[in-house]
Amino acid sequence: MKKYKVGIIGATGMVGQRFATLLDKHPWFEVVCLAASPRSKGKTYKEAVGSRWAMKKPIPSSMENMIIYDATADINEIASQVDFCFCAVDMKKDEIKALEEKYALAECPIVSNNSAHRATPDVPMVVPEINPEHIEIINAQRKRLGTKRGFIAVKSNCSLQSYVPALHPLMKYGVTKALACTYQAISGAGKTFKTWPEIVDNVIPYIGGEEEKSEQEPLKIWGKIEGDVIKNATSPSITTQCLRVPVSDGHTAAVFVSFENKPTKDEILNSWKEFSGVPQELELPSAPKQFLNYFTEDDRPQSRLDRELEGGMAVSIGRLREDSQYDYKFVCLSHNTLRGAAGGAVLMAELLAAKGYFD
Ligand code: NAP
Repeated sequence: MKKYKVGIIGATGMVGQRFATLLDKHPWFEVVCLAASPRSKGKTYKEAVGSRWAMKKPIPSSMENMIIYDATADINEIASQVDFCFCAVDMKKDEIKALEEKYALAECPIVSNNSAHRATPDVPMVVPEINPEHIEIINAQRKRLGTKRGFIAVKSNCSLQSYVPALHPLMKYGVTKALACTYQAISGAGKTFKTWPEIVDNVIPYIGGEEEKSEQEPLKIWGKIEGDVIKNATSPSITTQCLRVPVSDGHTAAVFVSFENKPTKDEILNSWKEFSGVPQELELPSAPKQFLNYFTEDDRPQSRLDRELEGGMAVSIGRLREDSQYDYKFVCLSHNTLRGAAGGAVLMAELLAAKGYFD
């Protein structure tokens, strides 16, 4: 496999730091360029991150002395050095939209964690095990942008990365409605206990925009390519409540689900056990061997014990039982900055690389 040169835009942030650690010694991708805000420009990566480094592993030695570019002012310089960039920046939505499009127009593909382009109809929003075929819409997007190589591909919100994978193999039974309450870690807000002491011994019942994303994005993931756009699915009906809880990493969801053709409990457990997708078939470097993992213990999954399963790329499920108002209920967990953010984006980039989209 050819080694691709990559850049990280937003390298100093929580997700950017995850990218840096995941891409260190990656078999297919080599980080050659780091960018952030004008505040960080000209500093070394180590200086720019400073005390914000929140990863358990140290800053990769191959990156600590790289000089940070300005993500907006230095687009052409960055684009000329890389085959594609990962992007995770904290800016206004319309600024991110414009920034990512400028990179695409400079013929630099963008694999993004940001929400700005998730609703753009010719931008694929991919969970590689669920809707890998959506990357084919990139041809239509390139036609619209007038680019040869440049495009934008995005990953979905971290909140839904446990319950959408768990519901997906059950769609064959006709999921009619689902209710999910999420219990979301503070790294999802780019925070640690040190930078957010107010969250200790506390639960905050509001995460701006999260419930809308959690309810609408699954319908794009389950949508179909029609002509030059992805048409959203019209069902199932999904309702959510998203809470911030004092957990460092790992988003948990309590899920209720009803079906047109109610499966047995064993049928659900088998559907989870047997489910695998294109990443497993292609043996992509970041793909978990077993994507969906059911725990029989009543007190699992737990964020501290289970979030790192298969390098934080697997989904953990437990407590499947019948419900008095819906058909079934269960609990699931995924690591929000690994599967839910940087890890999910790296897996998507591996899929795009394997299918020739960076050549
Ligand atoms: P963060 O820790 O606050 O980091 C923000 C990054 O954006 C930093 O690198 C910062 O650079 C950069 N930045 C800020 N203003 C900029 C500007 N004007 N131009 C260029 N770069 C600028 O945020 P995060 O948690 O990593 O999240 C980043 C993005 O990923 C957000 O869109 C978020 O919604 C999304 N996301 C996060 C998670 C998660 O679990 N954390 C999950 C999924 C998606 P400086 O250091 O120079 O300020």
